[in-house]
Amino acid sequence: MSRRTEAEYDVLVAGGGAGGVGAALGAARAGAKVCLVEKYGFLGGAATTSQVLAYCGFFQQGEAPAQAVGGAGELVLDELRRLGMDGKPHMSETTGNWIILLNPEGLKLALDRVLEAHGVDVLLHTRVAAATRTADRIEAATLAGMEGRRRVVAEGFVDATGDANLSLVSGVPMRVGDGEGALQAVSAPIRVGGIDPDLKIDREAVKTAIARYNETGAFPIARTDGGIYTRVPGTGEMWWMVIDLPLPDLTSASFTHAERTARKMAHDYVEILQGGVPGFERAFLAQTGPQIGIRETRHPAARYEMTAEDILSGRQREDGVARAAWPVELHGAAGKPVYHSIGGPGFASIPLDALRAKGLDNLYLAGRVIGADPIAYGSTRVMGTAFATGEAAGIAAAAGLTDGAEVAGRVRELGGLT
Ligand SMILES: Cc1cc2nc3c(=O)[nH]c(=O)nc-3n(C[C@H](O)[C@H](O)[C@H](O)COP(=O)(O)OP(=O)(O)OC[C@H]3O[C@@H](n4cnc5c(N)ncnc54)[C@H](O)[C@@H]3O)c2cc1C
Repeated sequence: MSRRTEAEYDVLVAGGGAGGVGAALGAARAGAKVCLVEKYGFLGGAATTSQVLAYCGFFQQGEAPAQAVGGAGELVLDELRRLGMDGKPHMSETTGNWIILLNPEGLKLALDRVLEAHGVDVLLHTRVAAATRTADRIEAATLAGMEGRRRVVAEGFVDATGDANLSLVSGVPMRVGDGEGALQAVSAPIRVGGIDPDLKIDREAVKTAIARYNETGAFPIARTDGGIYTRVPGTGEMWWMVIDLPLPDLTSASFTHAERTARKMAHDYVEILQGGVPGFERAFLAQTGPQIGIRETRHPAARYEMTAEDILSGRQREDGVARAAWPVELHGAAGKPVYHSIGGPGFASIPLDALRAKGLDNLYLAGRVIGADPIAYGSTRVMGTAFATGEAAGIAAAAGLTDGAEVAGRVRELGGLT
C-alpha cells in the first residue's frame, strides 16, 4: 500500500528507542515505506544510551507473568533469543515485578537485525531538527545528518524522541514535567566489572557499606536499601541503579551539572563496593551512559490524556490500542521511588487518541511522549509499553487512521495485545 505522491516515505519515525522501533515495525508490517531517524549511532533509546538494562511493562504484576505486550515487542524478544539472550520474565528481587534483563550490545545488534529484516530505512547519526507544516499537517521534516541538512517529505510522522523533539519543532503545545515545573528525578545506572562471576552479592554488606559512606561521603545515597542491582546477562558485570539526582529544569546547564555530578558519584560509589563488600576488591567502573537517564522532560498535547483514574482502576476501552501494565512508578524525590498497582484486570487500555497529537492530523506519538497525566505517566513510559504504543502509532500513521477500534483490530492481526 502506498499513499505517497511527492512523499519519499509513507512514515517517518523520529527516535530509535523502544517507541520508535515499535512504530517502525508497526508501520512496515502494515505495508508502509518507513524511515527511522536516530541521533545516536545505535538504536535502543534509554536501554542503550543510559544503561537501562531491563524491559518493564511486558508482563502484568502477579505471581505468574501474564503477557501484556506482543506484536513488535515480541519480535524484538525473539531476535534477542536468537542471539543467545533468554528474553524471559524474571521477577525483580527489589520490586517484585516481572522484567526482561538486557545485554546492551546484544540489544543493539538485535534491533539492527529486526529493522533490516522488515525493510526499514534507518538513518543513524541523524537528528530531526525542524519541520514544516500547514494548519493541520506536517509536510516535511528537516534532518540534520553527516551530509548536512535535507528535507524529507512523508505522509505520516511518529514522534518517538522521548523528549518530544518532533512535536516541539512542529509547534505542538507542551507541558513540562508535571505542569508545575516539577520533573521526575534523573538516574545514572552504572555497570561494575572485576567481580567473581559466581559471587552471590551480599545485600546486607552493600547496605552497611552505604551507611558507612553516608556518614561522611560527598554524595549521600538515598537508596539506603542498596539500590537495584542485577547481573548483566552474558557478562560477569553487575548493573547497579543507585545514582539519583533531582533535575531542576530543562536547561543545558542543569543537564551538564547532572552528568558531571553523576560521574563523580559513580567513581565514589564503586570505591564503596571495593572497600566494603566481599568479592568486590578488584571491582572497577565498567560503563556509565553514554548519557544520564532522563525520566521526564516535555509532554506534547495529545487528543486524550491518560489519567491516574484510568490506570489505577485498570479502565478497559474499545478504542484501546495497547496495554499499560507496569505499576505507576513515581520518582518525585531522588532515590525514593513510589509504586501504585494497576487495578481491574491488571492493565489499562491506552486509547488511540493518547497517541494522536492535538492539532496535527498526521502526527502520532509513541513511547514516553504519549498523552498521560503526571500519575499515569509513571506507568505508560516504560519500554515494554513503549513498543506497544509505538506499534499502534506506526500502524495508524501508515494509513492515516483515526478510529481506535479499527487500529486495535489491526494491532491484534499483527499479534499485538489491546
Ligand atoms: C534511570 C531510568 C531508569 C528506568 N528504568 C526503566 C526500566 O527498568 N525498565 C523500563 O522499561 N523503563 C525504564 N525507564 C523508562 C524508560 O527507559 C523510558 O521511558 C523509555 O526508554 C521510553 O522509550 P522511548 O522510546 O519513548 O524513548 P527513549 O528510550 O528516550 O528513546 C528516544 C530516542 O530518540 C532519540 N532522539 C531524541 N531526539 C531526537 C531527534 N531530534 N532526532 C532523532 N532522534 C532523536 C534518542 O537518541 C533516543 O534514542 C527508566 C528510565 C530512566 C531514565
